[in-house]
Amino acid sequence: MSSCCSGGTCEKSDARASGENACPRCGAVGKLVGDETILSILKPGHAERLLAVERRFCRTPSCAVLYYGANGRVVEKDAASVRVGLKETEDPVPLCYCFEFTRAHVRQEVAETGDSTISDRIDAEIRAGRCACERKNPSGACCLGDVRSAVKEAKAALVAAGRP
Ligand SMILES: [Zn+2]
Repeated sequence: MSSCCSGGTCEKSDARASGENACPRCGAVGKLVGDETILSILKPGHAERLLAVERRFCRTPSCAVLYYGANGRVVEKDAASVRVGLKETEDPVPLCYCFEFTRAHVRQEVAETGDSTISDRIDAEIRAGRCACERKNPSGACCLGDVRSAVKEAKAALVAAGRP
């Protein structure tokens, strides 16, 4: 289904470090998102003003901007119909939108078993062609990188708590 996920590598290097591509609020350069993503993620009425322009997803956790357009238009995270996991600290923090895994799932599994099989389970679903990242994930991209970071964080928290 999604070509971004089928290869297992989802990072596209489309971000050029120029002021034009940077989030007007935090200055970070986000990734381009397609029409399909903003139309499915944003509540009615919010996507239209971004449709005509190139627009990007801001990944900065502390920045309230969700999408910003080349013309300086921004849409904040409260315009999304889902919780934007990357910008939330309170549970539930969604990680995988296609198969509904959250940060709490990862933490629980790591606490119980010392590791997580969630990224492998997601990988298997992707191989079976059942992911729909471009419609379900606010970033419009595959979640596996975010899931792996969450696993790393959860393991580090265990070590910090003296339970390696
Ligand atoms: Zn930003």
